[in-house]
Amino acid sequence: MALPSTYADFYRRSIDDRDAFWAEQAQLVDWHKPFDRVCNYDKAPFARWFEGGLTNLCHNAVDRHLKDRADQNALIFVSTETDTETVYSYRELHAEVQRMAAILRSLGVGKGDRVLIYMPMIAEACFAMLACARIGAIHSVVFGGFASHSLASRIDDAQPKLVISADAGMRSGKVVPYKHLLDEAISLAVHKPQHVLMVNRGLADLAPVAGRDVDYASLRQQHLGAQVPCEWVDSTHPSYILYTSGTTGKPKGVQRDTGGYAVALAASMRHIYMAQPGETYFSTSDIGWVVGHSYIIYGPLINGMATIMYEGLPTRPDAGIWWSLVEKYKVSVMFSAPTAARVLKKQDPAYLSKYDLSSLKALFLAGEPLDEPTATWIANAIQKPIIDNYWQTETGWPIMAVCNGIEPAPTKFGSPGKAVYGYDVRLIDESTGEEITEPNKKGVIAVEGPLPPGCLQTVWGDDARYVKTYWSSIHGRTMYSTFDWGVRDADGYFFILGRTDDVINVAGHRLGTREIEESISSHPAVAEVAVVGVADQLKGQVAVAFAVLKDPALAASEADALKLEGAVMKVVDEQLGAVARPAHVRFVSVLPKTRSGKLLRRAIQAVCEGRDPGDLTTMDDPTALQQIRELVS
Ligand code: AMP
Repeated sequence: MALPSTYADFYRRSIDDRDAFWAEQAQLVDWHKPFDRVCNYDKAPFARWFEGGLTNLCHNAVDRHLKDRADQNALIFVSTETDTETVYSYRELHAEVQRMAAILRSLGVGKGDRVLIYMPMIAEACFAMLACARIGAIHSVVFGGFASHSLASRIDDAQPKLVISADAGMRSGKVVPYKHLLDEAISLAVHKPQHVLMVNRGLADLAPVAGRDVDYASLRQQHLGAQVPCEWVDSTHPSYILYTSGTTGKPKGVQRDTGGYAVALAASMRHIYMAQPGETYFSTSDIGWVVGHSYIIYGPLINGMATIMYEGLPTRPDAGIWWSLVEKYKVSVMFSAPTAARVLKKQDPAYLSKYDLSSLKALFLAGEPLDEPTATWIANAIQKPIIDNYWQTETGWPIMAVCNGIEPAPTKFGSPGKAVYGYDVRLIDESTGEEITEPNKKGVIAVEGPLPPGCLQTVWGDDARYVKTYWSSIHGRTMYSTFDWGVRDADGYFFILGRTDDVINVAGHRLGTREIEESISSHPAVAEVAVVGVADQLKGQVAVAFAVLKDPALAASEADALKLEGAVMKVVDEQLGAVARPAHVRFVSVLPKTRSGKLLRRAIQAVCEGRDPGDLTTMDDPTALQQIRELVS
C-alpha cells in the first residue's frame, strides 16, 4: 500500500477521496467475499461500511495468523492477584476459542444471539469474546466493577440468551465475588437468560442454580477437540454492544459492526500505534471498557501481535511490575490511562527505570485529560515518548492523535494531537450552531458524517435515540456531537476542555451523574440529590453528591451525617458498584435550581472547584449555593 508522504495529504485523502482511501485500508483484513460498496450513506446518519462484504472478526484475529504464526505468542495472561502467568500461542488460542464456541453452540447460542460477559480479567473472557465473534453471536461485556442494578439494566436491554461469568475477581489481594451480584441482577431483571456459564476459579462460592447454571470446565472437557468454523457474517453484522453513560440515567448500548471495526482497528495499529505483527502489545485497561475491546483483544490480535491481559494493580507486588512485563515480553507498544501514571507518580521512579525497556516504542495514554506534570514525570521516568490520544466508547478508536505511523510529528503538552484520518472534525459554536474556523476559540467538537469505519452503528435497539442523542444535539445541526468542548490551535492541534453534558470521568471511567443520582435517591432518607464531578489530583475527577433529606434531623450532628453518608455510599456500591461511589455525600436543605426547576449542576461544580459560578440571575434561591460554598470551604 503506497502511503502519501505527509500526514496532511493522508488526512485530506481520507476525507476528499473517502471510498478509495478506505478501500485501500480494507486490504489489511481478510474478506471471505469482497464488499460491493465502501460506504453506503443513503440513510444518513446511519453509515454502512463495506456493504456486501463477508468477513469474521475471529477469523481476522486468530485463524488467519495460523499459517505464519501458529506457534507465536497470542495471548499472555498475567495475574499478580493469583500469581498466574499463562501464555497461549495462536494455535492454542485457536483451540480454546473453538472449545468455547462449541460450548456456546451446545447451549443454543447462534448468530445474532446476545451473550453477556460479566467476568474478571481472565483468559476465558478473551476466549468468550472471540467465540461469540466466531459464531456471529453479539457479545456485551459488562465491567466487573459494576453491581447488580447496573447489570440488570444491561440484561434487560441486551436480552442475552446466555451470561458468562466467573465466581470472582481479585483486587489488591482481596477476593471480589461476582456470583451473588449476578444472581441478584438476574432476579431484578425482567428478561431471564436461559443459561449462565460459570468459570470456577476456586475463589468464591458458586451456589449453582439448578437447570440454569452450567460449569465451564466440565463442558470444556467435552469439547476438547472441537472444530467450529467461523461463521461468515455481513460486514454490517453487529459484533458487540458496549454500554456507556450519557445524560440520562439509562445507559446507551453502543452497537459496533464487524467489517468496519476490523478495518479501523487494523489501520489504527499501523498508523497511530506504530505496531507491527509479531510484536507484543500491552494495554493495561479492562475488557469491560472500550479500550479493552479495541486494544487488548481485537486490535493487537487482528494485527498478528501478542497481547498481554493483566489482572492486578500497577503497584503490586511493587511499582516495577508493568515494566518487568515490558522487559520479559519485549513489549513494543503500551497503552494506559493518565490515572495509572498518576498512581505510579507516587512511587519511587527507580522502579520504572529498573528494567530494560529498549523494546518499547511509546506509551500511549487516553481516556481522560493528561496533565502536563504527569506527562513530564512519566516521560522522564521511562525515557520514552508519551502519546496522548482522544476518543470515546462510541468511536471505538481515536478521533485525535499524532499519526506517527504516517509521518512522525511532535506532540504538544495538553493536546491529544490532530484530527485522525477519516474524521471530518469541526468545532461548532454551541449558541449559534456556526462552525468555528479561527484558531484558539472554544467550541463543541463535532464530526461531519459519515463517521468513519469502526464507530457506533446505532444505539442498540433504539435508532431514534441514536439520531436524537448524537446527531441533533448541537443547535439542531446534523453532525455527530462528541459532547466535549475543545479548541484547535493554529497548527491543527486540539485541546480537550471537558464535557458539555452531565458525564463525569473518574480515573478514566465514564459515569453519568444521573445514574448516580438515581441510585442515591433510592435511599429512603433522601428527598433529592445533585451529583457533580469535581477536579481531583489523582483521579482527574471525583463524584460529589449534595443531598436534601426528607427529615433534616437525620444529619443534625456530624456523627449522624457521617453515618448517613456511609449508608448512602453503600447503596451506590450495591446498586452500581464501587466505581460509581461518590467521594463525598454532603447534606443541604435546598439545591440550587433555576426558577423553572432545573438543577444548576455547573454552578455547583464551579463552587466546589473554587471557580466563579457565572450568571446566577435565573437561580431560584440564592442561599442554596451559599450552603454548598460553606460546606466545601
Ligand atoms: P469513554 O467513552 O469512557 O472512553 O469516555 C470518553 C470521554 O473521555 C471523552 O468524551 C472525553 O470526555 C474523555 N477523554 C477521552 N480521552 C481523552 C483525552 N485524551 N483527553 C481528554 N479527555 C479524554
